[in-house]
Amino acid sequence: MKIVYGLMTNTGNGNEFLYDLGVWETEESANDYLVNKLPHSTGIWVEQIEINDPSPEDLMPLTEKMLECSQCGVSYSPEDIHIIDGVDVCLDCEPAFKQNKIG
Ligand SMILES: [Zn+2]
Repeated sequence: MKIVYGLMTNTGNGNEFLYDLGVWETEESANDYLVNKLPHSTGIWVEQIEINDPSPEDLMPLTEKMLECSQCGVSYSPEDIHIIDGVDVCLDCEPAFKQNKIG
C-alpha cells in the first residue's frame, strides 16, 4: 500500500477525487499545485489517498504491451503468454504445443 495526495472536490453528490489532475508524493507538492495552478478555485482540497499498488504509475492508464501467441495469433497480456523455447505460446495453446513437441 502507498500513500499519495490528490485533489478532492465536492460535486454536490459527495466528494470526488480529481483524478485527471494527477497525484503527488507529498502533501506539500499537492498544495503547491492547488495554490499555483488553481488559485481561483474554491471547494478543492488536498486529501491523502491510499492506493494498493506500489507505484503511482499504476494510476495511469495501462499501456501494457500485448504479446501475440505464435500458435493462434491472438494477443494476450504478458502474464497469459509463456515463452517456451523462445516461442510465445498462450495458456490455451500451451498443452497442445507441448504435446506436439513431444510427439
Ligand atoms: Zn494461442
